[in-house]
Amino acid sequence: MLMKVSIVKCNDYSKVKNSIKQSLDLIGGLEKIIKPDDMVLLKVNLLMAKKPEQAVTTHPSVVKAVIQLVKEKGGIPFVGDSAGGAGLTDKAFEVSGIKKVVEEENVELLNFETTGTYRVKGLNIAKPLLDSDVVISLPKLKTHTFTFFTGAVKNFFGGIPGKQKSELHSKHQKLEDFSNMLLDIYSAVKPKLGIMDGVLGMEGDGPSNGEAVKSNIVLSSFDCIALDYVSSALIGYNPMGIATTRLAYKRKLGETENIEIAGEKIENVKIDFKKSVSEDAKENVVPIVDREKCKKCLTCISICPVNAITIINEDITFNRMKCIRCYCCSEICPEGAIGLVNV
Ligand code: SF4
Ligand code: SF4
Repeated sequence: MLMKVSIVKCNDYSKVKNSIKQSLDLIGGLEKIIKPDDMVLLKVNLLMAKKPEQAVTTHPSVVKAVIQLVKEKGGIPFVGDSAGGAGLTDKAFEVSGIKKVVEEENVELLNFETTGTYRVKGLNIAKPLLDSDVVISLPKLKTHTFTFFTGAVKNFFGGIPGKQKSELHSKHQKLEDFSNMLLDIYSAVKPKLGIMDGVLGMEGDGPSNGEAVKSNIVLSSFDCIALDYVSSALIGYNPMGIATTRLAYKRKLGETENIEIAGEKIENVKIDFKKSVSEDAKENVVPIVDREKCKKCLTCISICPVNAITIINEDITFNRMKCIRCYCCSEICPEGAIGLVNV
């Protein structure tokens, strides 16, 4: 089936509501999926406690704009997610600015660590993702050290609360297995729309340790697979090199062949993001700690799925034999003290 993905330029978050509205109108409008009184969950990309300008989390202006657009169609919006580690979600909502806009708009904010889960295909998925009438994915345009690209599909990993994410990294150590698990979550949730926050993206060692880059776009599609296909192409990837997209094609979960671009042409807005150091030789790329930056908070130890991190002589130390190269430690370190090196 022909699927539209819209691309609209936006160089300033103060204008993002207009840009998102344009991008939605280009694919047929929100009214195609929202009826009055529908409960509409906005699944933001939270990850950790970072400020909006650090380009780790969905920008609060995007969240606010989509809340308002959903209200204008008569829907009842609410916002939810869980951060990377256990017990970190409330602080992440606050620091990211998402809590503030949710309060301004007087809508509900859900911490998936406290909402309970349903067991689906062996996965514990936050109840609101399965109970809502409409789920909208609001990802951030970023690279990713483990999955290379993090988009509208990967965004649903936040539907697995807290520490259980680490357990899934341990269980699905290979990228293909992990990506199939992400697609299991995605196909259980069945989101009806994805809106990509690409005004300020992240290149290099995303999703949290890269550099913010002005990419000046928003994209929308009713198909998150098609949205990821176009978004990844736009920042310089071969879309079928992204495991979730490639496997979605095999599993017939979304559109990768019949995609119509609406709005800007890809060649007019394409921006080649610097890729992660892990992309070429993952087996050789390992975490390394910057002892000057490390504050000994021990978050990395608690998140490591295979207990490969310990403290020796008062320093964070990695056991490279145990390490499965998931890079969760680097992703979650609040001080940005864990980098990756090719050894
Ligand atoms: S998470 Fe970062 S700051 Fe905390 S102990 Fe680990 S390396 Fe140090
Ligand atoms: S040390 Fe870091 S990269 Fe290695 S398994 Fe643990 S969390 Fe993953």
